[in-house]
Amino acid sequence: MAQTKKNLLDYTPDKLKAFFLEKGEKPFRATQIIKWVHQQSVDNFDDMLNVSKALRQQLSETTEIRGPDVAIDNISDDGTRKWLLRLDDGNCIETVYIPEDGRGTLCISSQVGCALDCTFCSTARQGFNRNLTVAEIIGQLWLAKRLLQPNPESERVISNVVMMGMGEPLLNFDNVIDAMKIMLDDNAYGLSKRRVTLSTSGVVPALDRLRDQVEVSLAISLHAPNNALRDQLVPINRKYPIEQLLDSCKRFMHGKAARERLTIEYVMLHDINDSDEIAHELAVVLKDVPAKVNLIPFNPFPETRYKRSSNNRIHRFRDILVEAGLTVITRKTRGEDIDAACGQLAGKISDRSRREIHFARIEKNIVKT
Ligand code: SAH
Repeated sequence: MAQTKKNLLDYTPDKLKAFFLEKGEKPFRATQIIKWVHQQSVDNFDDMLNVSKALRQQLSETTEIRGPDVAIDNISDDGTRKWLLRLDDGNCIETVYIPEDGRGTLCISSQVGCALDCTFCSTARQGFNRNLTVAEIIGQLWLAKRLLQPNPESERVISNVVMMGMGEPLLNFDNVIDAMKIMLDDNAYGLSKRRVTLSTSGVVPALDRLRDQVEVSLAISLHAPNNALRDQLVPINRKYPIEQLLDSCKRFMHGKAARERLTIEYVMLHDINDSDEIAHELAVVLKDVPAKVNLIPFNPFPETRYKRSSNNRIHRFRDILVEAGLTVITRKTRGEDIDAACGQLAGKISDRSRREIHFARIEKNIVKT
């Protein structure tokens, strides 16, 4: 039986070193290959000019460099770009690129579907299919870089990566960690820890392990200041209540530089979590947490029971938090004309019964109001 080729996108620098050592090659080969794959964005071994012909030949027989296929490529009037990517098993995921003055953010998915059941998120309705592999996670960045920056020497267009696409990254812990290690590695993408952000709904035991594995920035999908309300919006709260989550956040930030802040994500839902009283309560629970708050206007999707808070309400909510001494950013909706805004992405997944399910959601732009 023909052996399937190993995809080199699956390998962190350390794992690639071990791979070459096993073959009796020197570890520096791993550095050379990592640079070709991730800096030069090549997928053809013949292009690897500083690698011997014999090794190139051997590698091309047993390994490959293969990102996901582009099924749909959409560009919004505002420059936001969304790809529907097809995976080997026919599932599709989405990746969004958001250009802004002086930076470009890539929003990456970590799972096909999602196992959590956040009531304001349409991905939740589609259920969970499977975790993405390391190659499928880093492959989103590898591919976007190839498409956006055809000449590797030209100015960097992807300056930030956010793990805010489909899925809960901390429930695909090992693969997400490996993918983020590749993002941070100087011989690969060389992104600084401030420019790689993991967003989680609060899987506390995994959050407690994160810091020991890799240094990245953190965003927490809080959405409510008390357990009664958060139990309804983010049901994983019943397992890991707010007090436990915020304690874990404090442990995560402990010993970091005073200017470092984690991000509290807060989706603005009309008449649900947007009152003055709740704003005051939020300011109190965040008192000892080194955090800035990101207010996200809710993006409705078919059959949702929620509505977006009015702009006036969002401003008032923000003012209360600011008066309490918090830093607040309101996320601006981008890419709505191509359904690339939060809650609007519609990928396609095949579940275990091969039913085709539509699902939605991802992140978009972050600007100050
Ligand atoms: N599972 C992770 C990462 C993906 S969600 C997490 O929960 O953090 C990233 C963000 O998408 C969440 O913070 C949530 O605020 C936002 N989101 C999901 N559905 C949304 C919607 N319909 N409108 C606005 N934001 C939404």
